[in-house]
Amino acid sequence: MTLNKKPILSVHNLQVEFPTRKGNLVAVNDISFEVNEGEVLGVVGESGAGKSITGSSIIGLIDPPGRITGGEINFLDQRIDHLSAEEMRTIRGKEIGMVFQDPLTSLNPLYRIGRQLTETIQTHLHLDDKNARLQAINLLAEVGIPSPEIRIDHYPHQFSGGMRQRVVIALALCANPKLIIADEPTTALDVSIQAQVLNLFMDLREQLNLTYLFISHDLSVVEHISNRVQIMYLGRVVESASTEELFKEPNHPYTQALLNEVPRLDLRKRNYTPVSGEIPSPLDPPSGCHFHPRCPHATSKCRNEMPVLKEIAPGRASACFLNESS
Ligand code: SF4
Repeated sequence: MTLNKKPILSVHNLQVEFPTRKGNLVAVNDISFEVNEGEVLGVVGESGAGKSITGSSIIGLIDPPGRITGGEINFLDQRIDHLSAEEMRTIRGKEIGMVFQDPLTSLNPLYRIGRQLTETIQTHLHLDDKNARLQAINLLAEVGIPSPEIRIDHYPHQFSGGMRQRVVIALALCANPKLIIADEPTTALDVSIQAQVLNLFMDLREQLNLTYLFISHDLSVVEHISNRVQIMYLGRVVESASTEELFKEPNHPYTQALLNEVPRLDLRKRNYTPVSGEIPSPLDPPSGCHFHPRCPHATSKCRNEMPVLKEIAPGRASACFLNESS
């Protein structure tokens, strides 16, 4: 597939904060990135890195009292971070589809899947009942549900985990969106089913020229699906590179530590230092480089100053003082 170099989504200096009784929690801290049409951007980091909040900000679904306190989000040349809830609802589901980790976030267990699919189709497209049902059956076939004309009348609990996630993907595709935000869409599935669902994502991207923002805590999951990867740590982007470059030569010590967790012999042989300890609380982030308490290369400068995300090669950026001495 040829990629267009036109950004479909651009995020500039995004800041998301949650006021809490213990203080202000900065969940996303001044991050900027673009996703080009037809591209898959993998966003990777541990729980608490801010990757899911980044996804929720784009679709206007941050849980209150969280709110965007800085920056802007543009989708297809339209600024969308200032839209009203109603305006955002038109974009969400129609222009931007969503797939979450738990299919029951998107599916109502009390209704047959056919009702949920046709209602979503008719919310966004002008189709009568008969054609909406036909479209729903076609979508179920497209995502690999066997006997879709029968399965359309089943309830969510009558599907296995993998099949239920396929139904959610069909739901996300109802209005022919251009961008899909997938947040840990395979995390709850068995490993063998994970591979099947990932393959489905890749096939659909080819067939429908989709663009994905693919969020995961697991680098091995994004390796096969992403063109580029952005690593997040405590609300900030610490490294960004093409998937190939990132796996060939990870720059940031945190990326190296994450790669150490990927079960691949060639990576194991490189002996990257594994990450130890827990990600610190964003309510009380460490001074200087937020990664310094866990970094094997930390110096006094790292403890006192914050490294900025800088270009280290064309199309690559990293936020680490080690790049200054090289
Ligand atoms: Fe480690 Fe220092 Fe680089 Fe942070 S700036 S990742 S602490 S070497």
